[in-house]
Amino acid sequence: MDIQVPGPKKMDLQLEVQKVGVCGTDRDIIAGFYGECPQGSDYLVLGHESISRVSDIGAGVSGFRRGDMVVPTVRRNCFENCFNCRSGESDMCLTGDYKEHGIKGLHGFAREFAISDSRFVVKLPGSLSDLGILLEPLTVVEKGEVQTFKLQQGRMKWKPKNALVLGAGPVGLLATAILRLRGLEVETVATRSKQSVKARLVEQTGARYINAKETPLNSLEGKYDIVFEITGSASVAYEAQKLIGVNGVLCFLGIYKAQQDTGDAGKLFTNIVLGNKVLFGSVNANKEYFEKGVKDLLSIRRKWNGFLEKIITRRANYEDLERAYSPESEEEIKTVIEFRK
Ligand code: BGC
Repeated sequence: MDIQVPGPKKMDLQLEVQKVGVCGTDRDIIAGFYGECPQGSDYLVLGHESISRVSDIGAGVSGFRRGDMVVPTVRRNCFENCFNCRSGESDMCLTGDYKEHGIKGLHGFAREFAISDSRFVVKLPGSLSDLGILLEPLTVVEKGEVQTFKLQQGRMKWKPKNALVLGAGPVGLLATAILRLRGLEVETVATRSKQSVKARLVEQTGARYINAKETPLNSLEGKYDIVFEITGSASVAYEAQKLIGVNGVLCFLGIYKAQQDTGDAGKLFTNIVLGNKVLFGSVNANKEYFEKGVKDLLSIRRKWNGFLEKIITRRANYEDLERAYSPESEEEIKTVIEFRK
């Protein structure tokens, strides 16, 4: 399909798209669980994880040049321009009327040229012109981590020692690396064998890999200062609250499908109260987390040689777009669609 891309308006950048990452949200949109077409359109262009080269610049834009490598953030301010959206925090939008490129009400970047408001675009150093495709998934972790520390340090003197990451997809692996960078002992749980690529990547960072098929989650009860739930499974999320210890914090980062079984709510709430525990959800990320993420991508690359490269397990050509969205093997972690060589 041919889509006309207009010239950039005053504050816009025209983007020559280089790469787009595929994630679970894309697959949920394709399956019809999630997502929303732009107003007046009966289709949605996917692609919220992307890297582009700036190809044209609106008259009012400063700080960018043609040829810059950039990553646009995903979310744009809500129609009402609520207090948080106005304050640069559209990730904390109050109205729910926000738009998200490639997800909700705005076309994404899985196309040759696109337009983005320059105020929502972050520059990449040349050395990240390939691995920068992992920046958007990393920002989900950056926000979860910053909020975890702010919440905990706001309510007590807090010296966390260990963390558990539930899930070892791209976000789980990046979370493992970030928590290791912050000096925590980390354990990461998934269902692959100890010989799998995921397990080896976890161990490369000095974290311990746990195969949930061999070690049931209930044997880990009450052990952790921090738990990041990234499996997106409602039943794992329900179990996750039992795994945080006294004064602990649980951050939910998945999108969960509705499920009937809610277990024993009384026991759950008492456990939260008696243990002074915090459970919270976090979604999306504003520009500040993208800027922080650029620094952390560089640190991860310096510290664990080849770690980021190995998260990208498949590179597809854009002419093969449809196939790129279905996983080809059990070992697949992140697929990147190349729009230009
Ligand atoms: C994206 C977020 C987005 C969320 C919910 C995730 O896959 O990374 O930017 O806010 O989906 O739409």
